[in-house]
Amino acid sequence: MKKIEEYVRSIPDFPEPGIIFRDITSVLNDAEGLQLAIDSMDDLLKGVDFDVVVGTESRGFIFGVPIAYKEKKPFVPVRKKGKLPLETISQDYDLEYGSATIEMHKDSIKPGQKVVIVDDLIATGGTVEACIKMIERLGGEVVKVIFLMELKGLKGRERLKGYDVASVISYE
Ligand code: IMP
Repeated sequence: MKKIEEYVRSIPDFPEPGIIFRDITSVLNDAEGLQLAIDSMDDLLKGVDFDVVVGTESRGFIFGVPIAYKEKKPFVPVRKKGKLPLETISQDYDLEYGSATIEMHKDSIKPGQKVVIVDDLIATGGTVEACIKMIERLGGEVVKVIFLMELKGLKGRERLKGYDVASVISYE
């Protein structure tokens, strides 16, 4: 059986010269790769007591929903600014390639709920840090943050110090 690393494509100089882009479309485009990715991420939640999965637009949805489904938990989307129809809270943050604002519905997390955050990849950790801020502003408690891939050199883990962070595969 192939390992998950063998399904990921590494694209040099995308979206900018000097960046190696880790492409997950090749993981999704293989039935075994997809199952392996979801099951391996889900394994990171063994023994974790939680109420809800939060995922960020858009690759956090791809992995977050099947994990929530497997775990029989609800899923809450974090969306780009202007997409959610009801009352929202928002958070600005810096990206590896620019800056952005993300939003959540105000009623999506109840005070005291234990939250797992799911995303495809951690680079600088800025996206997840912004999610954590919003979840905590709503009174939620982030008990675990999981990724398929981690770019170690960008030190996202240091930025998320104090949180329980896990990834399936990591790149230097
Ligand atoms: P961070 O906020 O710097 O940790 O960046 C993480 C976000 O950028 C994730 O939501 C990823 O989807 C995206 N991202 C950054 N670099 C890559 C990459 O090499 N491959 C795929 N996604 C990436």
